Amino acid sequence: MYDVAIIGGGVAGVSCALVLGSALEKPFAQDKKVAIFTHQKASSLQNGLYNNAYGIPPGTTGQELMRSSLEHLSTQYPKVTQIADQKILALSKSSDGYFVIQSADEIFEARQVVVAVGSASAFIIAGLEDYVIPHPKAKAEKRRIALKNQDHWVAEGLYVAGTLAGHRSQLSIAAGSGASVATDIASIWNDNQPTQIHDSVPQSV
Ligand SMILES: Cc1cc2nc3c(=O)[nH]c(=O)nc-3n(C[C@H](O)[C@H](O)[C@H](O)COP(=O)(O)OP(=O)(O)OC[C@H]3O[C@@H](n4cnc5c(N)ncnc54)[C@H](O)[C@@H]3O)c2cc1C
Repeated sequence: MYDVAIIGGGVAGVSCALVLGSALEKPFAQDKKVAIFTHQKASSLQNGLYNNAYGIPPGTTGQELMRSSLEHLSTQYPKVTQIADQKILALSKSSDGYFVIQSADEIFEARQVVVAVGSASAFIIAGLEDYVIPHPKAKAEKRRIALKNQDHWVAEGLYVAGTLAGHRSQLSIAAGSGASVATDIASIWNDNQPTQIHDSVPQSV
């Protein structure tokens, strides 16, 4: 049973995992378990070239980012479980109130779920149909979708991040969206106190 399962190993999903990974080092989150499904075959990063994203050297390809972001996550925050190559097919809630996450091969359980699978309409995870709306900020002819949400909150324990949350498709926006969800979850873990996770350079005396 994971406390949080993030579905989608693209920009928003990995960004969410990085901030939650940093929260796991805090006393209020020490017993929490976080997993991310790092399937990347359907990522916008596959063909992207990034010259205008904050902190990313111009000329970086999405292919490089797909590799380096997961390496960053495993090196810096090894407590976050990365589950590779599992395309999630269905999501439901058990009578006990936890989520049942189903891939072709396995079933996983989590108390909270962050859906960050991008806004392409070709495939939607079964169980999310009731929340699907046309993407509010994409061209209609592209037939993008979003999940109805209020500041990323979809339903009890269920969040959406990235372009699927209705944001425009820019890397920095998707990354910020994933990080935003992570701090909302960290705030709940931290007794509902507004929470952000910062590191600082040690000051010399
Ligand atoms: C060709 C191209 C060029 C771009 N150039 C720029 C640019 O120059 N500057 C800029 O700022 N932005 C650019 N973008 C946009 C940017 O890449 C996206 O806005 C960003 O990747 C969206 O992040 P996301 O997390 O919402 O989706 P993604 O990064 O696409 O991540 C979604 C993830 O979910 C996974 N997934 C999907 N379905 C499932 C499932 N059922 N189970 C498990 N995992 C699943 C996917 O494989 C993927 O890893 C470009 C996009 C494209 C396509």
